[in-house]
Amino acid sequence: MKLLEKLKALFGKKPAAPVPAPQPESAGPKKVKRVCKGCGKSFPVNPAWEHIPNYCKDCKQRFAREKEEKQRTGAPRKIKRTCKSCGRVFTFPNTLEHYPNYCLNCRKTRQNQMKAKYGSPVRRAKDGKTTKA
Ligand SMILES: [Zn+2]
Ligand SMILES: [Zn+2]
Repeated sequence: MKLLEKLKALFGKKPAAPVPAPQPESAGPKKVKRVCKGCGKSFPVNPAWEHIPNYCKDCKQRFAREKEEKQRTGAPRKIKRTCKSCGRVFTFPNTLEHYPNYCLNCRKTRQNQMKAKYGSPVRRAKDGKTTKA
């Protein structure tokens, strides 16, 4: 019976499965994990930060979106925002299609920088196509 011998040889030669190297839980000693109060996922935070966030990035983005949607509805009014560039508080009407993250000054500066870099600004047409003006 040679088949049995063949099988024995086959199984005998079977290489052992490679053992994956154990992955350290955190890459650096500075990073710690925190459980998000919104969705329960754990996300990395740096204990050196002055303010340790309670919510993960996804939840924060969701909150911002929900807040914006709430602001859009209701009576027309001015929305106050802090400019992400210079930190100044600026206002804009809540009926605006795209809520700006930067004050008018910074937006102008950015637009000029873009113009200098790429030429005329890229405009998004209503059909979704992006065309150069
Ligand atoms: Zn979350
Ligand atoms: Zn600004």
